[in-house]
Amino acid sequence: MPASTQPDVMDKLVSLCKRRGFIFQSSEIYGGTGSVWDYGPLGVELKKNLKDQWWKAMVRMRDDVEGLDAAILMHPKTWEASGHVAGFTDPLVDCKVCKGRFRADKLEDARCPQKPSKRPGEAEQCQLTEPRLFNLMFKTFMGPLEESASTVYLRPETAQGIFVNFLNVQQSTRQKVPFGIAQIGKAFRNEITPGNFIFRTREFEQMEMQFFVEPGKDMEWFEYWKAERLAWHKSLGLAADRLNYHQHAGTELAHYARAAFDIEFDFGGTLGFQEIEGIHNRGDFDLGRHQEYSGKKLEYFDQPNNKRYLPYVIETSVGADRTTLAALVNGYREEVVEGEEEGRTVLGLHPSLAPIKAAVFALTKKEGMPDMAHKIADGLRQYFPVDYDETGSIGKRYRRQDEVGTPFCITVDTESVKDGTVTVRDRDTLKQDRISADAVREYLTERLPG
Ligand code: ATP
Repeated sequence: MPASTQPDVMDKLVSLCKRRGFIFQSSEIYGGTGSVWDYGPLGVELKKNLKDQWWKAMVRMRDDVEGLDAAILMHPKTWEASGHVAGFTDPLVDCKVCKGRFRADKLEDARCPQKPSKRPGEAEQCQLTEPRLFNLMFKTFMGPLEESASTVYLRPETAQGIFVNFLNVQQSTRQKVPFGIAQIGKAFRNEITPGNFIFRTREFEQMEMQFFVEPGKDMEWFEYWKAERLAWHKSLGLAADRLNYHQHAGTELAHYARAAFDIEFDFGGTLGFQEIEGIHNRGDFDLGRHQEYSGKKLEYFDQPNNKRYLPYVIETSVGADRTTLAALVNGYREEVVEGEEEGRTVLGLHPSLAPIKAAVFALTKKEGMPDMAHKIADGLRQYFPVDYDETGSIGKRYRRQDEVGTPFCITVDTESVKDGTVTVRDRDTLKQDRISADAVREYLTERLPG
């Protein structure tokens, strides 16, 4: 992967996210839960916008993809068939000296807790154990008995809910191959080395789509989805030079995969380019295994050609949290403002992702300004998430909105009360337009996608 050319903004971002209510550590008052995070008032809007953009692009705008919301708990045989019980493992090594625990296949990226921090195994005193395989699935029990017969798993990916429902969806919607099934949902992995904020967590959300195609047409569709998915990330404003394809080759390629590419994003600093989405040609591995383990035929009947076959699957699998982090990192910037001592921090989020689309200010609390500003905010609220603010200097209010990525600020001033006009300030250009208060909704609609 190419080396990062971007600065490391992670620490600043973690602090901004907490201060402004995007993301909090889970159960913080008890000291926190390891690598589990809660989304605050602005974070929940941001992540929801991202998921909505995905759903719109993958389901609403397409005739050939159907939506699904499968349960987290599935029949335990699902995970035997999928290969997760036997093979969803990471090789784990412990250091007997520093008590650190590392992924044997990621030692290059790891740092030992001893100071000065080195790669595990690099310092003379390191004593690493032999790697042992560690299953990443969370186990629990269904029903009152805690015995192996009642073991169930928290799903480590959403995909299996789609495979087991392949025929239910196909028959109920009368879709014909090629077609896809998409869903968004929680997944759980007992990661050995989670971290980097919401980059690798133990509870996260995936947005996955399985596209079922006729064998032989799979590589054509694979190329199609590879291009579509990269274009989607760009449509969210992720900078083109921060995005990259990484091809899986040799041992990296899962035994059942016919081809696999990651879309990587440059998170800056030492984290650099990392996977945000995987695009895989899985052949007929999944439907074949579920057919074998369930004893139920999962073949598709191609009526016009009078033939039956197990479709091949092209999968696109993207993390909602990891992409939210990419959008935050991509948007974060600090700027010097001409003529002002204090600079500004801007979250240059794409308008479709911004948690607040417009903020409405009354310049002062006098001369009927708050009344007029409240009226404008209330009128907009049913169309866009808006914020009303009348506290602090106007400069401070602009800074507060810049820092959370609000694309437009509308100010009611002395002139407004007299002639019914307001100013609208653009977050990125800082340009201000004076327009009629009645035209604000139209002005925003033209400039806010979706
Ligand atoms: P990695 O190599 O980073 O562990 P993976 O190859 O195991 O990822 P997949 O199983 O292909 O990941 O999952 C698809 C997507 O789900 C990833 O591209 C990522 O965006 C997201 N994802 C996977 N594991 C996590 C996690 N622990 N925390 C947050 N997001 C995750």
